Order: sequence, then structure tokens, then C-alpha cells
Amino acid sequence: MTAGLYSARARLRVLLLERLAPGGQVLTTDRVENYPGFPEGISGFELVDRMKSQAERFELPIRNEEVMRLDLRAEPKRVFLPHEELEAKAVILALGATWKKLGIDGEGLFTGKGVSYCATCDGPFFRDQQVAVIGGGDTAMEEALFLTRFASKIYVVHRRDRLRATRLLQERAMDDPRIEFLWETVPTRILGGSGVEGIELRHVRTGEVYTKPIHGVFVFIGTVPNTQLVKGQLELDEEGFILTDQNMETAVPGVFAAGDVRSKLFRQISTAVGEGAAASYSAERYLESRGHH
Ligand code: NAP
Repeated sequence: MTAGLYSARARLRVLLLERLAPGGQVLTTDRVENYPGFPEGISGFELVDRMKSQAERFELPIRNEEVMRLDLRAEPKRVFLPHEELEAKAVILALGATWKKLGIDGEGLFTGKGVSYCATCDGPFFRDQQVAVIGGGDTAMEEALFLTRFASKIYVVHRRDRLRATRLLQERAMDDPRIEFLWETVPTRILGGSGVEGIELRHVRTGEVYTKPIHGVFVFIGTVPNTQLVKGQLELDEEGFILTDQNMETAVPGVFAAGDVRSKLFRQISTAVGEGAAASYSAERYLESRGHH
């Protein structure tokens, strides 16, 4: 959204392509507390809506269509939509990332029937029930805290004996009487009939296997980049995130990347926004250098 906004405001001939609705992971965030300018916090949905209105004020065209294939090495670059082919002199990839799956028995079977990757979306279904949250990062802590509004008990299952999440979120989660931590523990199976009824767990040091009766499993074990479209065309890191220089430029001239899809340490809305602005600026400079402006 930021790359689009900056490009539209710079009067580049730009088109934003989005397969579903603009906003990505932010849309499923209940409350954004650390994005500057909103001292009381803001819902993810509203933040996206405001960004969209702002981009539209600068007449950014947005098309809700899925990109099926990209040819980034062609000149101009080619973008294949389901029923149309577009040409672009520069491409900014802000493809984001998707929740990682556990890959254990029952996860696929019960997805949408008790296994969830979005507490904001599914939390209210678990009023007064016991649930498990898997993961020890910021997302797991935030979502576990959100679930305390509904669930009677939240087991946070973490594979190590200390959390990855920032101190503030750790403290809040540890202070909440509804949250119980199961340390050095991994889920091995999700059990149930028509819905989830329990989770089988294994203590990683002692090897002890046991089950907890729960009705929901919320999985927050990190993300995988949405780089299927660019595999084989761009340099990726070992986890599949796109490598760029500090100006968001990839090794392919005229191709830029910004946000969670980029190889980096820190994934925040504020960092994504900054990178979107930088990518737009770099794209503009690239076009100028080619006499395209
Ligand atoms: P993350 O930081 O990568 O944490 C993933 C967690 O899941 C880690 O605790 C990891 O354990 C665990 N894990 C990974 N694979 C696992 C597996 N197969 N089985 C069991 N556990 C597994 O992911 P995230 O929490 O989604 O955060 C992603 C990025 O967004 C981070 O940069 C984070 O700071 C940011 N974020 C920020 C905020 C905020 O600032 N408010 C909110 C949400 C997200 P280990 O610790 O042992 O590796």
C-alpha cells in the first residue's frame, strides 16, 4: 500500500495488484499498538482501510486480481493475470508471508474445525473453552492474550524453555492467570471427532507423551514467504525470502521488494511501510535512469 501510495503521488503510471483484499496479515490483527501515530492503538482492519483511502486520494488504481505468473527477466517485465497479460518497466514485490503449518496429524483435517491461524477471526468460537496456542514469538503472545477474552484457559505450548517474544508481551502473558505455559513441549497430534477434542504433546527432554483436552488449537510458529511466483528468477535466502540491497533493489534490474517477503531480521508494519516507500523511490530512480519517466 505504501509503495503504491508513494508511486501514485509521484505521478508514476502505477497499478496495484492484489489477489484478495489489500492489507494482508494486518487485516487479521486485532489491535496494532506499536505503529506510530495511534497512541491508543488501532484495529488492523481500520489501519488498512485508512491506508487504502489515503492511496486512493492520490488516485492509485487497485485491481483485485491474482497474478498467475511473472516474467521478471523480460524487458519490459511481463505480468500474467488469469485473462490478460500486462507489461511493466519496473515491478515492486510486496508479496508478504503466510502462516507456517505444524505438519502434524490432524492439523489439515481440523483446519477450520478447531485448528486456526487467526485468533481475531476464530477466538469468539471458543468462549469458556480450553484452547492451545503453539509458538513462543510475538504473534503467539499477542494472540494468546487476545484469546483470554473468550477462552477459559489457554495453554501456550513452546518448544524451548524461554520465549522469543519481546519482554513486554512476555510479561503480560505470564501475568495472565488464564494462560499456562507448557515449556519444552511440542504438539505431536491433534485429536477429535467432528471437531478438535484434544492435543497430544511430547516433552522434548523427558520424551513423556500425554494429551490435554482442548477444543481449539491456534498455530503461531512463524511465517513462510509468498515467493512461489519468483522462484528461479530472483535470489532468495535459505528460507526463501527475497534478497535485496538496502535500497530494496534485487539483483534483477527494475525489480524491487518490500515488507515481510524480504530477507531481513525484523518484520513489522512500520518496517514494511518504510521499505515500501524506499522501493517506490528506487523504482522511480531506476525509471528515470532509463529515460522512462
Ligand atoms: P517468530 O518470531 O518466527 O516466532 C515463531 C515461534 O514459533 C518461535 O518461538 C519458534 O520457536 C516457534 N516455532 C517455529 N517453528 C516451530 C515448530 N515447527 N514447532 C513448534 N514451534 C515452532 O514468528 P512470529 O511470532 O509470527 O513473528 C514474526 C515476526 O513478526 C517477528 O519479527 C515478530 O517480532 C513480528 N511481530 C511483531 C509483533 C509486535 O511487535 N507487536 C506482533 C506480531 C509479530 P523458537 O523460539 O524455539 O525458534
